[in-house]
Amino acid sequence: MAKNLVEQITNMDEDFAQWYTDVVLKAELVDYSSVRGSMIIRPYGYAIWENIKNALDTEIKATGHDNVYMPLLIPESLLQKEKDHIEGFAPEVAWVTHGGDEELAERLCIRPTSEVLFAEHYKNIIHSYRDLPKLYNQWANVVRWEKTTRPFLRTLEFLWQEGHTCHETDQDAHEETVKMLEVYADICERVLAIPVVKGQKTEKEKFAGAKYTYTIESLMHDGKALQSGTSHNLGTGFAKAFGIEFLDRNGKLQTVHQTSWGFTTRIIGAMIMVHGDDKGLVLPPVVAPTQVLIVPIAQHKEGVLDAAYELQQALKSKFRVGIDASDKKPGWKFNESEMKGIPVRLEIGPRDIEENKVVLVRRDTGEKRTVDQGNLETELEKLLEDIQKNLYDKALQHRIKKTHAVKTMEQFKDMLAKEGGFIEAMWCGKQGCEDRIKEETQATSRCIPFEQERLSETCVCCGDGAEQLVIWAKAY
Ligand code: AMP
Repeated sequence: MAKNLVEQITNMDEDFAQWYTDVVLKAELVDYSSVRGSMIIRPYGYAIWENIKNALDTEIKATGHDNVYMPLLIPESLLQKEKDHIEGFAPEVAWVTHGGDEELAERLCIRPTSEVLFAEHYKNIIHSYRDLPKLYNQWANVVRWEKTTRPFLRTLEFLWQEGHTCHETDQDAHEETVKMLEVYADICERVLAIPVVKGQKTEKEKFAGAKYTYTIESLMHDGKALQSGTSHNLGTGFAKAFGIEFLDRNGKLQTVHQTSWGFTTRIIGAMIMVHGDDKGLVLPPVVAPTQVLIVPIAQHKEGVLDAAYELQQALKSKFRVGIDASDKKPGWKFNESEMKGIPVRLEIGPRDIEENKVVLVRRDTGEKRTVDQGNLETELEKLLEDIQKNLYDKALQHRIKKTHAVKTMEQFKDMLAKEGGFIEAMWCGKQGCEDRIKEETQATSRCIPFEQERLSETCVCCGDGAEQLVIWAKAY
């Protein structure tokens, strides 16, 4: 007999990486393309992205930003203008060298990010304090020539939004950087049920060309971390390189202060690795393309399909409701809906119809219960809310369990090897120690969390006076 879908995926404790690959393919989120590291996002994967995108776009607009669109190609001379930026991005840039048969006089890069395009445009349209703040965002694809790739988590081409703003003062730029990090944290926690730690990147890990970078970091089921969104205060670096100046309220010429921030399709990978289980995907109801799947039981019997379609009609103004009326056996349908992470399965058969009842099965716990059709709408509303909350709580408990405070390198290595997860340790602030920790443990600094604690007075690595608590982890 053919293996059912769930039997076709690897057990997550046996081989987490293979489990992840199996799930993204079997749940029909992506397919591989003929270009290394580029993925085809299939309709189910794209529908999830659209739900995330819509939620984030709503918040971006509610915080006063306008959407724009910039060109895909950047002339080399433009990219060269900000020295730290080009140095940081050079190894990851893809170049267009020919137009048809003709070699171009100047190479064009495919945008890895669009700071320089925005900077050039801002120079042309900002003249006075009255033109500020400029709060722009673009939804686009970018290309970064990554060495190792994994669907969603790290791809050559990915979809994202990039916000680019200009402000009168450094304080305004700082407030914007914080505000947009909060927006990302809210999308992760409220929409995707992924708890995050907010903090600052070290100098080594900050964005190329930024004054400082804020980040949200999340912890995956296997104990590895994932940088889930970043917000940069660019200071005046790009503005000086491009001459973005304005006459201030006293008629004096000033340089603008800038920010940029990005959130990508990577977050779908995070959602899979935080909530998924051995049966496949587990989707938070807020982003699930189908929140409730109706599975008719004994659908060949008179009245069953009609009743199922009637239910769908009755519920569809409130929920995203699908129906599987295919000729597959109910067991296969259950299996597929589990693989696809659909939050609630609704079963209805001849007996239920007679008794005016339906059976609800939740994906996160597998719990099954029979409810009266009269209460169905209220029951579903409560159930979906409860699933969303349960996924968040479970992920938070997991993170708490996998966060370990250490004081010595021995403890650091021991904990990381045995437990994985977030390692909290004090740091002196020197890059030498950050490098040594990475060399000896493969853990990188994830962030200097905003919520600080003083675990000890000395650096975990060199024993010198410690400045800050840092979260370290092996990361994707
Ligand atoms: P950056 O512009 O470098 O700050 O990147 C913005 C966000 O993009 C980061 O916070 C990452 O979460 C994400 N990201 C970076 N590289 C990739 C990639 N190759 N594929 C998917 N997402 C990425």
